[in-house]
Amino acid sequence: MRRPIIILFFLLLCPLSRALEPIPDKLVVLGFDDCNKSDRHFVADVLKKHGFGATFYVTEGLGFHSGKGHYVTWEEIVELHKMGFEIGNHTKSHPNVTRLSRDQLKGELAHIEKRCREHGISKPDTFAFPGFSNNIRAVEVLAGMGYKFARRGVGPEYPDSGSGARGPAYDPATDHPLLIPTTGYAGPKWGMKDLKWAVSQAKDGKIAVLCFHGVPALDHPWVNCTPEAFSKYMQFLKDEGCTVIATRDLARYVDPGKGPKDPYAPIRARAKK
Ligand SMILES: [Zn+2]
Repeated sequence: MRRPIIILFFLLLCPLSRALEPIPDKLVVLGFDDCNKSDRHFVADVLKKHGFGATFYVTEGLGFHSGKGHYVTWEEIVELHKMGFEIGNHTKSHPNVTRLSRDQLKGELAHIEKRCREHGISKPDTFAFPGFSNNIRAVEVLAGMGYKFARRGVGPEYPDSGSGARGPAYDPATDHPLLIPTTGYAGPKWGMKDLKWAVSQAKDGKIAVLCFHGVPALDHPWVNCTPEAFSKYMQFLKDEGCTVIATRDLARYVDPGKGPKDPYAPIRARAKK
């Protein structure tokens, strides 16, 4: 008689053990787009030193095939995976997804999933919009393919110079999980004061979402970040006691199954202010 009671007790406890954690202040999501060589040869070691999580958003577009000196190889992506970092999907060819049909976008996503599978990397379930372009069709395709979280850019709420900018903090109470805003992305027009501002926004349930490209970005100087500056940024996050996570780790704090009925409603409301 007693064993069924014990089993029932544990079954009842299980949902509790999956309860979401409260969002701490100074929670920072860190992502690196485009497969820059520095992902493996500089950034990963700095992150490891501090015990930070991060996502590397992988694409075979841009110069992945032609400019190997500036881009990581799949072998190096496997190393990042084995170091414990998240490998996220950034499409096969880095297109503007708003110009793709549903099937074309599905193909772009499926290609990176296949390449991950071939290399023993778990199926990506977070996404970064290439060039930050997004629309409702892409959100629906991502949801249909099981993606939990996706990161867009700083606009339309904030102006984007194209060479580093501030953006909204991510508010899981209102934002759709497949349209997470970027709170700051590095470039010549973004620096330490912008990083400090982004971290100051990460309070009362809001989260700072940071996007980097190459450190340095050899092919794309408009989103460059120098290794010296990057080291200082990461040291600042450490000194501030920030919790620095990969996008997938948001699932500890946020239910990816929940979101506004109209995914763009919170963006329009914020842009009007
Ligand atoms: Zn990109």
